[in-house]
Amino acid sequence: MNMFSEIKGVVSVRDAASFYGLKVNNNGMCVCPFHADKNPSMKVDKRFHCFGCSADGDVINFVQRMFNLNAKEAAIKIIEDFHLGIVTGRKETESEKNERIRTGKKKEYEKKIREAYLLELKKFHNRLSEIHRLLVEWEKKYSPSKEQWEMNFIDRRYSTALYYKNRIEYILDVLDYGEDEEIYEEYKHRKETIDYYERKITEVK
Ligand SMILES: [Zn+2]
Repeated sequence: MNMFSEIKGVVSVRDAASFYGLKVNNNGMCVCPFHADKNPSMKVDKRFHCFGCSADGDVINFVQRMFNLNAKEAAIKIIEDFHLGIVTGRKETESEKNERIRTGKKKEYEKKIREAYLLELKKFHNRLSEIHRLLVEWEKKYSPSKEQWEMNFIDRRYSTALYYKNRIEYILDVLDYGEDEEIYEEYKHRKETIDYYERKITEVK
């Protein structure tokens, strides 16, 4: 489909007439801008037709005549005024081309960084889940009996599990349910904390 038929497909003469300041009544009639018209004698719809001066045509012709433009200029005016975003076939300038390439490269780079981050985040999450699993296991396995409680004989793995499990759960909750920014903050600030937890837990093993 060419530019002209694309424009005609989306902008009617009636749209253009109203947009450029002609008052269109309910019957789709307006005062003809192409002859000295007093009473509305021009019918505007997809096309226009004047019953006074026989002016007739489509939206491109209409804008051409109103603004004294050639067809291509009229088309470009409509595209700009109606924000149609249709490619006009104008060749992009050198600086526009460079800008387009620069933007493309930047987007590609940002995408790679994001992918790498998501991968790291996944590893971090796996590591936390692993630690969490171990702590849950310890909590069950080394839970002291009543006698042990009374004698204050408590396995260090049990106390360690109690101490770290909730903290790990909190971080996992943020990673699973937080907003993007919260997740990033948590990831950035907790990495070292987790290294520390892991060392502590390994000591107890
Ligand atoms: Zn007329």
